[in-house]
Amino acid sequence: MEIERYRHQLLTKQQEVLNSLRRRGVSCHDQFDPGVLDTIDESMFLQDKESLFAQADRDTQLLREIQKALERIEEGSYGYCLEDGEPIREVRLSVIPWASYCVDHQASREGALHYSEARAMTAYVQDSISGKAE
Ligand SMILES: [Zn+2]
Repeated sequence: MEIERYRHQLLTKQQEVLNSLRRRGVSCHDQFDPGVLDTIDESMFLQDKESLFAQADRDTQLLREIQKALERIEEGSYGYCLEDGEPIREVRLSVIPWASYCVDHQASREGALHYSEARAMTAYVQDSISGKAE
């Protein structure tokens, strides 16, 4: 597995999402390690549209997933399904380098759920595993 390639993809995507959040003036300090989002000026905080929230929510969830993936790279557990520990196919990782589950488990998790709910749930499960959620 070309870990460095995935790490690069993750870092690139992370920067992309951060820039996107920044453009919209969204501050999400309370959801991240301060170090991750210290490039976002708190004074830019403003929220007046539901859609902004929704998009920011998706972005912040994605950032969490990217952050988790980067942590898994550091831990050496990157690329394995969090459900069954099986290797995630490389074709999947090359499309979604922050994937936490193999195709089967991701599909069973998403099921009939709305996409964003499924993403939120994935993030919640990741937090549960890392002990950050109740
Ligand atoms: Zn699996």
